[in-house]
Amino acid sequence: MDRQDEEARRRSPLRMSSMDRYVRQMIIPGFGEEGQRRLSGSTVGIMGVGGLGSPAATYLAAAGIGRLVLADPQTPDDTNLNRQILHWDEDVHVRPKPESAAWKLRRLNPGIEVEARTVEVTEKNIEEVFRDADVLLDCLDSYPPRFVLNDHALRSSTPLVHAAVEGLRGQLTVVEKGRTPCLRCLLPSAPPKTAVFPILGPVAGVFGCLQAAEAIKLLTGVGEPLRSSLLIGDLQYNSWDTISISPAENCPACGKS
Ligand SMILES: [Zn+2]
Repeated sequence: MDRQDEEARRRSPLRMSSMDRYVRQMIIPGFGEEGQRRLSGSTVGIMGVGGLGSPAATYLAAAGIGRLVLADPQTPDDTNLNRQILHWDEDVHVRPKPESAAWKLRRLNPGIEVEARTVEVTEKNIEEVFRDADVLLDCLDSYPPRFVLNDHALRSSTPLVHAAVEGLRGQLTVVEKGRTPCLRCLLPSAPPKTAVFPILGPVAGVFGCLQAAEAIKLLTGVGEPLRSSLLIGDLQYNSWDTISISPAENCPACGKS
């Protein structure tokens, strides 16, 4: 813990006693003090601290989620900086992404706990990394780790907020065991990973923010989460569609067989 960390901690007891920072969300109908208490008692696990994870974690920290678990094995490089807004020039090749993000999020809101996990999340360790998570966020950029997260979400009955972006397009859905299709229903096998895909920063920003909003809705019960629907947005033409999606009967993860 460096000097600035200690100062942030010293200031926090006073600041934590004040709910002022949450007033404008607490006055949303149905939210109230109870909604805020639910957020402060919750843990959100975020897999991938890049283009989607940066805005998602920022808004969840600002909203007062009690504990964020950030998991990513990478250290930022220059090509990340157009969209991964929690990583700055000074972090490039210096700090792992979870550490880089946690450092800023603790300053944004010293009243929350941020756990940085610099690990490759696999089937073997996912149970331990995301233990106690009330909601999981898929902020990844390829399907094999997504399926690991999807399967863990089903096994642990933890709601999962999926987003994926490329170029100027993105998609979003909420996966809940027994209530919605899962990611393998939508895509039974992983498409080949493109080494370098195009992406505009604000597109990742928009979809990461939507993930934060869905997580807050799931935790507070405010609003209607995007269950059994896939939101598809194309910012190139400002076209937005929500399509109904159904479970695949032969789904290897959630199917009946
Ligand atoms: Zn499925």
